[in-house]
Amino acid sequence: MVYQIVYVSTSPEPLTTSQISDILNSSSGNNARDGITGLLMYHDQLFFQVLEGERSAVESCYSRIGLDGRHSSLALMWKGEDAGRTFPNWAMGYAIPDKLGPQGKDSLQSLAKLKNGKGSTLTGNTVAAELARWIIRDFKDVQ
Ligand code: FAD
Repeated sequence: MVYQIVYVSTSPEPLTTSQISDILNSSSGNNARDGITGLLMYHDQLFFQVLEGERSAVESCYSRIGLDGRHSSLALMWKGEDAGRTFPNWAMGYAIPDKLGPQGKDSLQSLAKLKNGKGSTLTGNTVAAELARWIIRDFKDVQ
């Protein structure tokens, strides 16, 4: 069994490639050390991240991420046990939306709209969780 957390968040301003690289560099080093695998996607100020591994490692990573001023308004899509890792080969794979198929792209757009809706929260939102699952299914095929 593996513990998984999936969330979306927003960056306060558009990030440069170099800022994304900084995040990825510290993430992949820390995650390799902590046995965490997953996926990070950034598009149009929206982050989408999957973290998976041993429960305490994933929870402490998510707590650290939650304190990071490079993004805000984290919305948890789901957390819990899964049968196995979805991204076993990525200490922190970086995914660009161009790699998504049509269903994944539509899901991402819908998720971004839901996230940006005035006063919206995605925590516990079953539609948002289903959209996130579509995105993950699409990326699982390209790793
Ligand atoms: P340090 O080695 O002290 O910091 C690592 C680098 O990040 C340094 O260059 C530092 O200057 C820079 N940095 C740290 N915090 C900030 C900040 N608030 N603003 C600007 N630069 C900063 N960490 C993981 O370990 N795994 C992840 O999967 C992961 N995913 C992330 C996803 C997103 C969307 C964001 C925004 C951050 C993510 N992080 C992740 C980074 C995490 O928030 C912490 O910054 C990091 O875990 C701290 O690692 P460290 O203790 O090695 O810190």
